[in-house]
Amino acid sequence: MTAKIIDGKAIAAQVRMRVKERARELFERSGKKTRLAVVMAGDNPASEIYVRNKIKACEEAGIESQSFRLSADASEQKIIELVDKLDSDNLTHGILVQLPLPTGINERRVLERISPRKDVDGFHAVNAGNLMLGNDCLAACTPQGCIELIRSTGINIEGKNAVVVGRSNIVGKPMAMLLLQNNATVTIAHSKTENLASITSRADILVAAVGKKEFITGDMIKPGAVVIDVGMNRHDGKLYGDVKFDEASRVAAFITPVPGGVGPMTIAMLLENTVTAAENA
Ligand code: NDP
Repeated sequence: MTAKIIDGKAIAAQVRMRVKERARELFERSGKKTRLAVVMAGDNPASEIYVRNKIKACEEAGIESQSFRLSADASEQKIIELVDKLDSDNLTHGILVQLPLPTGINERRVLERISPRKDVDGFHAVNAGNLMLGNDCLAACTPQGCIELIRSTGINIEGKNAVVVGRSNIVGKPMAMLLLQNNATVTIAHSKTENLASITSRADILVAAVGKKEFITGDMIKPGAVVIDVGMNRHDGKLYGDVKFDEASRVAAFITPVPGGVGPMTIAMLLENTVTAAENA
């Protein structure tokens, strides 16, 4: 079997068009211009690139964006004051604090200052809790993007065996919750899981969010599975996924490439959360 490649760039472009249309309609209906504020502290080169890409994506989708840069020695208090100011600004609908924050800053304390309704990353405890309860909420962007990618294959998630490898608060756990909401039978695996291959090889839908280069090999995959590779592992200037692509693509029915799979979806879903936040405001 040779897997069909799930084209994250093309699917992200469709989401972005949908977002642009919603932002335009919102403006025509209410005069409201959707606006995202991005807060960054320090000079992490990877964060610089992420922030630049997010701002460019906003522009293309007709979303206003403002970026706020604080120095690497900015105190937690100063970051919190900025978040509070943006939080009380009615013209700002979404607030994103680019992680990581400089050493010594308590990221959780900063993230919890953002009102859940403006928390477009979906990291606030209230949004995470509402996702768990199955309530409407701003859910984490990467897992939402993965769901879009799975849906794009045309397979029905309902009733399928889904395995998520990784249980982080930003990817693994919300991913499992979204799959559960879609009526999959969900297993979460992690570093303490025994006999991982026996679990992954039963997955109709396998999501790898481990952070280890080419960790999932072909023999760990069920023939005909949908494989979603969240991993972004940089080695010698090249980007690798968590899945050994050449092996996996001989076994799976559908697979996401790295780059060009999940990555573009994360930004697209951030834009979608931002326009949702503006509509709800
Ligand atoms: P974390 O490091 O927070 O979590 C990794 C998870 O993998 C943990 O739950 C850990 O288990 C589990 N794990 C580690 N080793 C093993 C193992 N040997 N067997 C099974 N499970 C294992 O990473 P993130 O969730 O933040 O990110 C995962 C990957 O996704 C990274 O490569 C990251 O760069 C990428 N990423 C990509 C995004 C995108 O837009 N494409 C967005 C976000 C992340 P335990 O909990 O027991 O330690």
